[in-house]
Amino acid sequence: MDVISIIEEEQNRRKMGGAIGEFVIFRDDGDAALVRFLDELKSDDEKKVARVISVHEVRGPSRDDFRSMLCTGDGCQYCSEGNRPIRRVLLRAFVYWFESGGKREKVHAVKVIDLKASSMAMAELVNDYRARNTITDSDYLVVRTGTGFDTKYSARRQDASPFKYPKTAQKTWITLKRLRELVEARYGEQQGEGEEG
Ligand SMILES: [Zn+2]
Repeated sequence: MDVISIIEEEQNRRKMGGAIGEFVIFRDDGDAALVRFLDELKSDDEKKVARVISVHEVRGPSRDDFRSMLCTGDGCQYCSEGNRPIRRVLLRAFVYWFESGGKREKVHAVKVIDLKASSMAMAELVNDYRARNTITDSDYLVVRTGTGFDTKYSARRQDASPFKYPKTAQKTWITLKRLRELVEARYGEQQGEGEEG
């Protein structure tokens, strides 16, 4: 194992703060992204609707280290240990920009916004959906505030801005197959520090 390259990769991630790979990761208090959701909360078109996954928050090898692991349903090891899964909602979104530590980066690509079903942000999106029957015709400012157990996420609808799905961004569209792979890579058993070998 090349420890140095792993350390450097982690350091770079830390520096970048945010949008790691295909998931938008809000690491710190004040991290924010302006997005246009591309999945609805409800749709007859299976391909255009948000995905829900169940994960277990599992304590890692060090004390403050929590990891989220996909619940495999029947025969799930964590369920059998009495760990109750929590649900997360995955929404594909065109991300205009991401801001961390006061530094704003242009993104202009399709990413995955991944939020707890119990988050304030999801409650706000549900309210908007009920009032307007869509969440894909406006931009949203997604903001993380606080840290640790006091972390909150909000999703505020912004004044409608004319949205033309940029040609260049079509290249970054995430298919459902790709989304499943991304979820597996992020929450599956394979990924892991702390793995016994
Ligand atoms: Zn489970």
